[in-house]
Amino acid sequence: MIESINKNLHDSRDIDHLPPLSPEKETEVLVLGGGPAGATAATILAQAGHQVLVVEREKFPRFHIGESFMPDTYWILRRLGMLDKMKTSQFVRKYSVQFVNDSGKESQPFYFFENNPHECSQTWQVVRSEFDQMMLNNAREYGAEVREETRVIDVQFDGESVKAVRVQNPDSSESIIRAKVVVDASGQSSIIANRLKIRESDNRLKKASIWAYFKGAKREPAKLDEGATLVLQTKGKKGWFWYIPQHNDIVSVGVVSDLNYLFEEKLTPEEIFAREVENCPSIKSRIEGSERVTNFFTTKDFSYRSKKVAGPNWTLIGDAFGFLDPIYSSGLQLAFRSGAMAADAISAALKTDIINEQKLREWEPAFLQGMNRLRNLVYAFYEGFSFGAFIRRFPEHQRHITDLLIGDVFKEGLDEVWEPMALLQEEMKNQEAMQAVMSKDLQPIAV
Ligand SMILES: Cc1cc2nc3c(=O)[nH]c(=O)nc-3n(C[C@H](O)[C@H](O)[C@H](O)COP(=O)(O)OP(=O)(O)OC[C@H]3O[C@@H](n4cnc5c(N)ncnc54)[C@H](O)[C@@H]3O)c2cc1C
Repeated sequence: MIESINKNLHDSRDIDHLPPLSPEKETEVLVLGGGPAGATAATILAQAGHQVLVVEREKFPRFHIGESFMPDTYWILRRLGMLDKMKTSQFVRKYSVQFVNDSGKESQPFYFFENNPHECSQTWQVVRSEFDQMMLNNAREYGAEVREETRVIDVQFDGESVKAVRVQNPDSSESIIRAKVVVDASGQSSIIANRLKIRESDNRLKKASIWAYFKGAKREPAKLDEGATLVLQTKGKKGWFWYIPQHNDIVSVGVVSDLNYLFEEKLTPEEIFAREVENCPSIKSRIEGSERVTNFFTTKDFSYRSKKVAGPNWTLIGDAFGFLDPIYSSGLQLAFRSGAMAADAISAALKTDIINEQKLREWEPAFLQGMNRLRNLVYAFYEGFSFGAFIRRFPEHQRHITDLLIGDVFKEGLDEVWEPMALLQEEMKNQEAMQAVMSKDLQPIAV
């Protein structure tokens, strides 16, 4: 079970001997949530010499989904001082992603180093409880004050400005915290965006997911292919499975499909998962004979974003701002990037002592441009886009596709790819329509 996956970790309070939080507390920056986005922002702000307090409702290590990295995360991990810790960790190394279509045909693996033979082209498949604790401890090492088991129970506003944040401490007492800037990194709780009603769900991506962990499932031979993320489509392209090998012989296996389809019948998550495994022989053969070591987890309707990234004295990062879809493993990349970009904007504002919405939103255009590129790629996948067919037809765009898949989405030049992609999709639609007409014409005539 998950508890045993967490067994190697230390109790974080061994590291942190803090006196109880006072009933009234002031700080320069208050971060709500100590996941990867919150830990990124806290570390960068602490590195820049700011006073940072992180409040996290759970006691780490705590379970979380989202285990596969994009290679471009390398640069943020390096900036955070996490790179050496990753290199000496037991996390499985990931060199590629591979797609398997609904008839079981495997694409060539996309080896990231073919694009750039630098160590940044290798990334990791992590166990999130372990990784998130490393990140939070790293923030502590750089000087952030971290309070676990400290839950935000209310955010008090004065107009659109946050006046104070009320938290419940581990002993159930309460504290009121005031800060120059509040960073909402509370993940899908999206505390501030929900309070201000600025969160919008993505109607083109009404998806749901069911997943579990398996021990002893099929693994490719170690080094190059062992850590590949596999994306395997189910019959009729109704959904897809992820297959993410982790250390200790564990594989994370999950299915994603339309919310209405996945849960349309009154079945248990286990029954639905089994139904989808039957619809995906390539997954079935990989997990046959393995032992399921957790219960099933479910989540739904997870694609949304907020109308803006910041207000007069607050900012939203990571999932608290928005989440796209798990298909390209972009969640952590966006959490790191938004955490870093927001931290830089906050630090610049604090240094000039001019803190306002305009200053705190300075990173918004660049961030949204990168996020929207990934969103386009997500939409394309669900509309039947084939990477293999695209690269065969437009080999000159292979580099752009690899850039998108590694998460290097914040640079110029990438947008050239959308026009040929639309062209290919149009051609494929026409071809499908033609095939449908032809197969109708060839039906035997009933007499
Ligand atoms: C099915 C699925 C599969 C995914 N797979 C991948 C993948 O393979 N790769 C990838 O990169 N991403 C993946 N993701 C996305 C990834 O999980 C998230 O994008 C990532 O965890 C975001 O980090 P975060 O720090 O913003 O939020 P979180 O990791 O959710 O951290 C938020 C923190 O805030 C705390 N918090 C919440 N409310 C409060 C409160 N009231 N008071 C105090 N603290 C609070 C929580 O306890 C939590 O620790 C997946 C997501 C889904 C749904």
